[in-house]
Amino acid sequence: MPPLRILLLGGTTEARALASRVPVISSLAGRTSQPLLPDGAVRIGGFGGVDGLVRYLREERIEAVVDATHPFAATMTEHAVAATARTGIPLLVLRRPGWSEQPGDRWHRVTSLDEAAMVVPALGERVFLTTGRQSIATFADLDACWFLSRSVEPPAPPMPARLEVILDRGPFTVAGERELLRRHRVEVLVTKDSGGSTAKLDAARAEGVPVVLVDRPPLPAGVATASTVDEAVSRLS
Ligand code: NAP
Repeated sequence: MPPLRILLLGGTTEARALASRVPVISSLAGRTSQPLLPDGAVRIGGFGGVDGLVRYLREERIEAVVDATHPFAATMTEHAVAATARTGIPLLVLRRPGWSEQPGDRWHRVTSLDEAAMVVPALGERVFLTTGRQSIATFADLDACWFLSRSVEPPAPPMPARLEVILDRGPFTVAGERELLRRHRVEVLVTKDSGGSTAKLDAARAEGVPVVLVDRPPLPAGVATASTVDEAVSRLS
């Protein structure tokens, strides 16, 4: 039997790991200028909404779709659910688990970036933003705060008046994160509940820094999910 023709919606560490173990066509959104390319076939760029994805699935005779996009890439996931329902192609969503609070953590869970921007000023003046460059605009009007932002690509306006940008891509270490928090005298960390490496959360706990944690958007009801690459590999085989 020839292998299934699988479209893997990527942009995450897990997607790259899966592409190294199963033959797939990986799809990247094309947001970063120098993406970490997975093994195997790769296509880059949006499909053009649900209709475009349906067309792609048919033209490329795709037999299964794995959505291993970032837990906050909710639009792509919605489109994958709609397009696979329309074409009758099976869909598996690979989502790493979210983070869980540990003793000593000072977490403030919020349901959106807007809510994060509302609670931040009461927690501290010096804010470390690790929510991605596209979220900087949400904090642009918080003149009372100084921001340190870390992202792979530079953010674009609107941006907070007092902002220092670090361009960097993980993995990060706990020791490195602690040093960063201390050097910049960070008083509050803002992050999305992406899951994966806990280095910045471990560092915040060790340094007594409160964390504003943005909850994940919910997954559409009824989709098949895997929480690890191993589980996805066994489901695909
Ligand atoms: P999004 O808001 O869910 O998607 C917006 C549009 O981008 C989609 O409608 C689609 O365009 C296109 N797109 C997204 N992922 C794609 C993929 N893997 N292949 C082809 N087109 C894709 O997504 P996002 O939050 O901007 O994230 C974009 C990419 O960055 C994703 O691949 C995600 O895994 C990765 N990423 C996101 C985050 C985050 O915090 N959101 C963090 C790390 C990495 P069309 O409608 O034209 O098809």
